[in-house]
Amino acid sequence: MDRYPEPLENLIKEFQKLPSIGRKTAERLAFYLLHQPPEELDLLSQAVTNVKEKIRACKNCFNYTEIENERCEICRDPKRDASIICVVSHPQELLKLEKTREYHGLYHVLGGLISPVNGVGPEQLHIDELLLRLQQSSIREVILALDPKVEGEATAMYLARKIKPLGIRITQIAHGVPVGRDLEFADEVTLSRALAGRIAL
Ligand SMILES: [Zn+2]
Repeated sequence: MDRYPEPLENLIKEFQKLPSIGRKTAERLAFYLLHQPPEELDLLSQAVTNVKEKIRACKNCFNYTEIENERCEICRDPKRDASIICVVSHPQELLKLEKTREYHGLYHVLGGLISPVNGVGPEQLHIDELLLRLQQSSIREVILALDPKVEGEATAMYLARKIKPLGIRITQIAHGVPVGRDLEFADEVTLSRALAGRIAL
């Protein structure tokens, strides 16, 4: 026997498709699940199904929201300062900034960063939608909270070029964030400081 029975192999194969999961980890996960009671497995498969069926992108900022709401919790909150927009590449970074409790404006999720080597141009990101928001509502500041690496820098430059002519103040969070690490992994204290020490572009 050089492989496990097919259902088990299938599960291992599916796990291996996930980011940072190699064969060994995939096997460990599959065996773990095999030993769980059926109720636990139902909860897991339900959660997997729901993530696609019950989540949608916010019409305004592209943050994730429940399927029944066109706008996310932040865009719907009247207490948020609607004159500031903080631009992030992914919803994970938005959540990280929310956890600092220092920021009370709105967000805009680009859905990635400009990366010519990976074939990602501005048109693949939610940049046009951002510019439209800036033209349609009275925004006084756009804060760029993008990764300090090359792609984040390129995206920041591109956005600055597009936003400056609109006469809106554009700032970038100070990068106390160690170079080469994703913003997603920055701790909350570092991020709070980076937000407070933002600089004009
Ligand atoms: Zn939103």
